[in-house]
Amino acid sequence: WKHAPSTFRALLEITRFHGDKVFVVYSDERYTYEEHFRLAATLAHRLVDDYGVRKGDRVAIAMRNYPEWIVSFSAALAVGAVAVPLNAWWTEQELTYGLADSGAKVVIADGERAERLSGAGLPVIVTRGDGADRANWASWAEVLGEVRADVTLPPVEVGPEDPATIFYTSGTTGRPKGALGSNLNLGQAPMTVAYATMRGVALSGRDPAGAAGKRTNTLLAVPLFHATGCFAVLLTTMFSGGGLVLMYKWDAGVALELIEREKVTGMTGVPTNAWQLLSHPSLRDRDISSLGSISYGGAPAPPKLLERVTELLPGRTPSNGYGMTETSALAIYNSGRDYLAKPDSIGHPLAVVDVKVCDPLGEELPPGQVGELCVRGPIVIMGYWNRPGATAETFVDGWLHTGDLARVDEEGFVYVVDRAKDMVIRGGENVYCAEVEAALFEHPAVDDAAVIGIPDDELGEQVGAVVRFRPGSAATTEELREFLRGRLAAFKVPVRFWFRDAELPRNPGGKVLKTLLRQETLGR
Ligand code: ATP
Ligand code: MG
Repeated sequence: WKHAPSTFRALLEITRFHGDKVFVVYSDERYTYEEHFRLAATLAHRLVDDYGVRKGDRVAIAMRNYPEWIVSFSAALAVGAVAVPLNAWWTEQELTYGLADSGAKVVIADGERAERLSGAGLPVIVTRGDGADRANWASWAEVLGEVRADVTLPPVEVGPEDPATIFYTSGTTGRPKGALGSNLNLGQAPMTVAYATMRGVALSGRDPAGAAGKRTNTLLAVPLFHATGCFAVLLTTMFSGGGLVLMYKWDAGVALELIEREKVTGMTGVPTNAWQLLSHPSLRDRDISSLGSISYGGAPAPPKLLERVTELLPGRTPSNGYGMTETSALAIYNSGRDYLAKPDSIGHPLAVVDVKVCDPLGEELPPGQVGELCVRGPIVIMGYWNRPGATAETFVDGWLHTGDLARVDEEGFVYVVDRAKDMVIRGGENVYCAEVEAALFEHPAVDDAAVIGIPDDELGEQVGAVVRFRPGSAATTEELREFLRGRLAAFKVPVRFWFRDAELPRNPGGKVLKTLLRQETLGR
């Protein structure tokens, strides 16, 4: 795999052959593959000619999930630049950090983000919003000018080892880190997804010819600025010539409407998206018969979620994927029959991925033992941008140390036990938050839950839980404790509960921001 000739440029040129098939749908806008190629190639020329973008320069993208996000990404990579997708949820300060950290030469932003970047002092190309009222701003239409039908990509030599992307990690455990990915990573990421899809087809007993012959139309529930949205969904769609349905922001009701209207064949998101879709009052009123698969990952998926998928969406293929920004999204995958048999597992490593579970010294542990999950393969990124210390700590002898605790069973199924940083240590006993949360999700009144450590003089930490009930349902602390006692060892049962009406603080990746939650709950 080391010499796989893959660059994004090559992929982009292939996509032109999909011609007038619809590629991107956003609201009532539709873009074919040919239109996307022309826009991307035109922008690529402008980046080179008007903005002086050269190979290796960083081009930042600060946008919601608009079609222009995809055009900008394609254009930047086509000229060998490094695309730097910034988190659209970020504040002015955070966006400014992203621009400074990456050393971007130009930023392409939607109107709302452009406003937040007004102090950044570098050229801004403003899509969606009349931007061109400031000295260093130019509007999208103005920059593109005439889009010619015979446009081709500017001639630039790009190779698989050339850097392609800086995606920022979700910042669940600290400040987001810039993950530097190569063109090779980009080329390999869809391979893991293709392999996962074929495995899912086989394991769900669907007819492979039927599944392969059907054009996919995927609803993207997560942002493009995170690895899953871009690598696992956008790139795979481009490879296969499928359609991609974008949403400005996640909304379960709108998602159901789009699935019906656009005859969506699969949805990819985080577990929260699937959970909300299944709980939505209009689920039964919509014709969602086109939907063949529902995939989620990026955060722990409680087994209860799978139960609800099989109950409410019978006959669909559910999948749980594990991945990180540092693995260019998907690395380990559980689908179909395997997933039904082992609903608490993330499944097997995908093609081109090796995994091991090791002790703190890096020694591989035997099956059944819990240790740090390590991943190796051509989807593992080059390192962290500008962070030699973190790079040296995380990438050791070719292995990526994920910071996740996991075990592997005798059949090779991998189980994420917890994030190493999340675990509550109660009197020397490890309590894995994810396990307690999964048990809480089994309770019929519970809509959302997160487990946190409460500082304790005697035990170091005690287990606490923050719970949000479904509308019209509730339970008392004693009822919840009683319920959990039947499912968990006594020391894992939370001693204190906090009930809240507000949603739990989550980042766009669907992960509960535990530091913030702890502050909100414990005041520290
Ligand atoms: P940061 O590294 O900045 O703290 P982050 O780790 O949340 O943020 P991401 O790269 O988006 O940033 O997320 C990767 C992490 O998400 C994994 O390390 C793991 O903890 C979690 N994760 C991903 N998929 C799954 C899954 N299927 N089940 C459980 N956890 C998952
Ligand atoms: Mg991380």
